[in-house]
Amino acid sequence: MSSTAFVPSPSVRRLAAPAPGWTKTTDVVVVGSGVAGLTTALRVREAGLRVLVVTKAMLDDGSTRWAQGGIAAALGDGDTPEQHLSDTLVAGAGLCDEDAVRMLVTEGPGAVRRLIATGAAFDRDDEGEILLTREGGHHRRRIAHAGGDATGAEISRALVEAVRTDDDLELIEHALVLDLLTDAKGRTAGLTLHVMGEGQRDGVGAVHARAVVLATGGLGQVFSATTNPAVSTGDGVALALRAGAEVADLEFVQFHPTVLWLGPDAEGQQPLISEAVRGEGAHLVDADGVRFMVGQHELAELAPRDIVAKGIMRRMHETGAEHMFLDGRHFGAQMWEERFPTILASCRSHGIDPVTELIPVAPAAHYASGGVRTDLRGHTSVSGLYACGEAACTGVHGANRLASNSLLEGLVFAERIAADIIERDRLGKLAPRHEDTTRPVEVVPLLAAESRAEIQRVMTRGVGVLRSADSMAAAVEGLAALAEPDADPDKSEFPQVETWEATNLHLVASALSAAALLREETRGCHWREDFPDRDDVNWQRHLTTTLVAGRLHVG
Ligand SMILES: Cc1cc2nc3c(=O)[nH]c(=O)nc-3n(C[C@H](O)[C@H](O)[C@H](O)COP(=O)(O)OP(=O)(O)OC[C@H]3O[C@@H](n4cnc5c(N)ncnc54)[C@H](O)[C@@H]3O)c2cc1C
Repeated sequence: MSSTAFVPSPSVRRLAAPAPGWTKTTDVVVVGSGVAGLTTALRVREAGLRVLVVTKAMLDDGSTRWAQGGIAAALGDGDTPEQHLSDTLVAGAGLCDEDAVRMLVTEGPGAVRRLIATGAAFDRDDEGEILLTREGGHHRRRIAHAGGDATGAEISRALVEAVRTDDDLELIEHALVLDLLTDAKGRTAGLTLHVMGEGQRDGVGAVHARAVVLATGGLGQVFSATTNPAVSTGDGVALALRAGAEVADLEFVQFHPTVLWLGPDAEGQQPLISEAVRGEGAHLVDADGVRFMVGQHELAELAPRDIVAKGIMRRMHETGAEHMFLDGRHFGAQMWEERFPTILASCRSHGIDPVTELIPVAPAAHYASGGVRTDLRGHTSVSGLYACGEAACTGVHGANRLASNSLLEGLVFAERIAADIIERDRLGKLAPRHEDTTRPVEVVPLLAAESRAEIQRVMTRGVGVLRSADSMAAAVEGLAALAEPDADPDKSEFPQVETWEATNLHLVASALSAAALLREETRGCHWREDFPDRDDVNWQRHLTTTLVAGRLHVG
């Protein structure tokens, strides 16, 4: 993606919050402790720079530890980065940045090996070779996995152990990062954060740093039902927008086709039935046992996720059903226990035994292909501010992420960001900046904590798997109405984690809806009922969103 000149806004926009009561200085602050944040921190530390990792809950509380299927890399016999590139470009539906994808697939195998050297143990065969499985959209077995279906848990365990044993790496858990601090030229000078808990650093503080890396993960909590954990509220995207950075491709939210269906009113994080279950041969069937994906795509159940999600939604509409089924009964008990122990336990805990029963499944929000726009070194449009992992939009996913490319993206781009920071430091370009206290601060009033559920309902109804101009206009209206009662900063809700998160969710939901409404075509995981076809003439381009004087601009 090309970059445009950054002009700082005359005023600074920040969430309503008490003035910082404590300060700290470091070289680099990494926000978030998933695969992206911890890999960045470890690699930057190797060069001897001071690094502080700030994370909202416990170190392992992001999406990373929930990843099941695995991590994609051309590691197998006969597989090549070129073939991985080709599958990624197909899934991305014409909007991938080919240079970014090429980097991902060529640097990917080395990054996975370095992750193994850091301590992550992948499943291997009797000869010690890494076992590889297949997932939707991949024409090769190239998904490395750990603990059967507990890949993310193992990656998270290894990275958390590595950072915990590095005495020079500073960690602050249970701390919500609020806003970026900038100097007079709009360059990164640090950030503000709120530490929940007792001790020296209780409450709101300021960290002055030479670089800030946003690795805050996804935004699935914008919707009622999602595979994402509670911390995935899009805080990094909201912070970046307030800081004047560009975000891109927000309309491309991937809905995972096979999420365990727990009833029509299920809310919050829902259990995922990994694509690897279909990769190993489970079939999608309707209530009559018909394999409805056969004939819809050459890969049937293993078609790219958007195709499978649409296939399920279509069948649900045709038959009036609230969900479809996944049939893995032919695996037998031993295979379920050895290959998919986590999924088996999760299904059984909800009263479904996949060994003998069909698993009810329906699509739910899963992955944000868009995010804070970066170049190939992770730079955002704000100097000194980097974005990495699911919070970023590097251009590798285009209109739809290929399965298991996200852990890989977090790894590869974390290493690229670390290399860039180290190089800039060596060249003397990573200078300390002083926060500009002369620019007026526009205080963003906070929404009530209860708005979170309403935002989720509005977004699920209007901007979910099936979208139309009418449904999205209603969502935009609903979101605007939610912001109204608190428009006066004096009436802003009391600053606390829930109200800061609700306010971030609202900004992200508004930006996502605006982009989705503007894109009048169906492409990748953006499915418009009123514009059912892909339109390369008008829409083979990215939509970039900025926040200027409190108003969202999409174009
Ligand atoms: C159920 C599930 C299964 C998946 N399976 C796979 C898979 O098999 N393969 C694959 O490649 N991908 C998979 N994904 C996607 C993948 O797990 C994520 O995209 C990836 O882990 C994101 O890593 P990350 O480091 O960017 O963010 P995360 O791991 O989500 O970490 C984000 C971090 O930021 C912190 N944070 C957020 N906001 C703030 C704030 N304001 N202040 C401080 N800290 C903050 C969070 O607490 C967290 O520590 C799956 C995702 C889910 C949910």
